[in-house]
Amino acid sequence: MKGFDPIQLTKATEKVVVEGNRRKYARLARPLRFYGGITSATEVGCNLRCKFCFSDTPVRKPQTTGKFYTPKEVFNALQKGAIKHGHKLISASASEGTLGRQHLLELLELVDQSDLVFVLETNGITIGHDKDFATELSRFNNLHVRLSVKGANEEEYSILTGANPESYKLQYKGIENLVNAKVSVNVCLMASFSDEKGIETVKTRLQKIHPGLLKALEIEHITLFPKVLQRLTKHKLLPNKVRQSGKIVQLEGVRV
Ligand code: SF4
Repeated sequence: MKGFDPIQLTKATEKVVVEGNRRKYARLARPLRFYGGITSATEVGCNLRCKFCFSDTPVRKPQTTGKFYTPKEVFNALQKGAIKHGHKLISASASEGTLGRQHLLELLELVDQSDLVFVLETNGITIGHDKDFATELSRFNNLHVRLSVKGANEEEYSILTGANPESYKLQYKGIENLVNAKVSVNVCLMASFSDEKGIETVKTRLQKIHPGLLKALEIEHITLFPKVLQRLTKHKLLPNKVRQSGKIVQLEGVRV
């Protein structure tokens, strides 16, 4: 089989980054400019290995990165940071947000008792694999899920993430499960390596799940940070469009 199974990698990574209700984080509560300002924790551990990922050691070296924190410790730090910076939104980013389900659910319970909103950043794989996950998320009011689809088709996804092509569909299943469970969700498509035809195919796929998904669809492009460029060059993968100083720039790249 070409590529790894991301569900198996989920289980293997959780053994490293989850301990009871504690999860590993590299950093708690830093202000980010996204969504007009958000306080975010840097979590550790992912079930994909995207070659364009800006997050380095939290994804690739989970054993030696970060420390374990309880949901209460994470929430307290995020709340403190949000108050300091006047943010209403909090999140955890730089890895996969759904690893350590017990930790996440306990964290969301704390968020629900506050006036903050948690943005769950995910690639959707785990939620696509288990419909009950979406049902469990549906009981939270102060939650929004931002689900990032990697690539415009199975092959592109597999080349970019290292996972087997069959698992591409789990991302769409994740969206469908969230929509059916009435969880607030928006989709972004990582399209730096995709052509227009591929992007249209994704739009058609999303429309079939729910036409409303297209209204809030974000087309995302990578930033060529030095480590990202180094990794992409090693794999002979260059994007055709990147984000540079806030603008989307067309490159003379080699598309996958
Ligand atoms: S899913 Fe996200 S955090 Fe994980 S490797 Fe891909 S880009 Fe990085």
